[in-house]
Amino acid sequence: MDQHGTKLLTVDKNVENIDENRNIMLAAEQLLEGEVVAFPTETVYGLGGNALCNKAIHKIFQAKGRPSDNPLIVHIGERSQLVKYVDNIPNYATKLMDAFWPGPLTIVLTHKGNLSKGVTANLPTVAIRMPDHPIALALIRVSGIPLAAPSANTSGKPSPTKAEHVYEDLYGRIPVIVDGGPTGVGVESTVVDCTGEVPVILRPGGVTKEEMEEVVGKIEVDPALMMESAATPKSPGMKYTHYAPTAPLILVDGSERFFNEIVKEAMASGKRVGMLIFEENKGRFSPVKKEVIMGSKEDLSSVAYALYDSLRSFEEKEVDVIFSQVIPEKGLGTAIMNRLRKAAGGNIVSEA
Ligand code: AMP
Ligand code: MG
Repeated sequence: MDQHGTKLLTVDKNVENIDENRNIMLAAEQLLEGEVVAFPTETVYGLGGNALCNKAIHKIFQAKGRPSDNPLIVHIGERSQLVKYVDNIPNYATKLMDAFWPGPLTIVLTHKGNLSKGVTANLPTVAIRMPDHPIALALIRVSGIPLAAPSANTSGKPSPTKAEHVYEDLYGRIPVIVDGGPTGVGVESTVVDCTGEVPVILRPGGVTKEEMEEVVGKIEVDPALMMESAATPKSPGMKYTHYAPTAPLILVDGSERFFNEIVKEAMASGKRVGMLIFEENKGRFSPVKKEVIMGSKEDLSSVAYALYDSLRSFEEKEVDVIFSQVIPEKGLGTAIMNRLRKAAGGNIVSEA
C-alpha cells in the first residue's frame, strides 16, 4: 500500500497466542505512536486511539468528521484499569459489570481528570466498556493503553460491521485497518449512566433493559429516548442523525397490505423503490428495484447482525426511496428500532 493509503492487516481472531501475532504487534505499535487504528469489536468496528493522548484523539475526530461535543467510549481490558480513571462506582454498576463484561455494555461514571479532554468532550463523566472480542482485547493488552474508540465510520453513515465498510469510509484517512472478519452483535453497546441512584439507559444497544433488570432491578430510560420527546439527550451522540443510507429511508408501521400500498404508490409516481424487509415477508410484496432481507423477525439478533450491512447495501443513486418494515420495541428490538428511526431521520408512516 502506498504511503497515502491504508494498510489492511488481517488477523484470525481465533489464532493461538494472539498477543504474539505480528499484525497485532504492528497495530499496537501504531497505537503507541499516537496513530489511529480500526479494529473489530463484538459490536461494530471501532476506530481506536490512545485515550491518554490528545494528538491521537484529535485524529479520531478528524478521520470520522465527528462533532467534537460527542464524547468517545474508552475500552479497557481488565477491571483493574477502571479505578485508574473513575471515581464513585456504585454497587449496581459493579453488578452490571460482573454480569455483562466483557460485552456490549458501556457504563458512564465520574472521571478522575486524567484522560484526554477530547475523549470526554469536557464532561465530568466518561463512558467505559470492556469489549468481548479477542482482537480488541489483544490490542489493549499489547499496547498497554486504554483505547478510545467510536465506530469506525464517517460520522452520520451506518456503523461498520465488516472491514470493507471501514475501507469504504476511511481509506486514505487512517493508516491501519485490522481485518478480523465480520463483527458479532451488529449494533453498538448499550450506554448506561451510573452516576445516580439508579442506572439510566442513555442509548439502547446489545445488552437489553430486560437483561439488566434481571441483575439490578428497576432501570430508567433517558426521557430523550422516548418517541417525540423534546428533551435534550444526556448522551450527546444521540442528538445527531445517524446510520443513514444513501437514499431517504421511510419506516412503515402496519400490515403487509399497508406496506404494499405505500410501495405501489411510490412506484406509480415513478420512483425507484428499495425495501428492507424480514425473511418472513419475502415474496409478499410487489417486486421493486431492490429488496434487501435484514434477518428474521423471529430472531432479533439476526436483524441486529444484518442491519448496518443492509443499510449500506443501497448504493449511491440506485434507488430514490427505501421503505423499511419495523419490529416491536422490546428486547433487542429497542436498539434496532432506535437505529432505524435515526437512519430514517424520524420518518415513519403508520397505518391508521
Ligand atoms: P459511538 O462511540 O459512536 O458508538 O458513540 C458513543 C456514545 O456514547 C455516544 O452516543 C456518546 O454521546 C455516548 N457517550 C460517550 N461518553 C459519554 C458521557 N460521558 N456521557 C454520556 N454519554 C456519553
Ligand atoms: Mg458511532
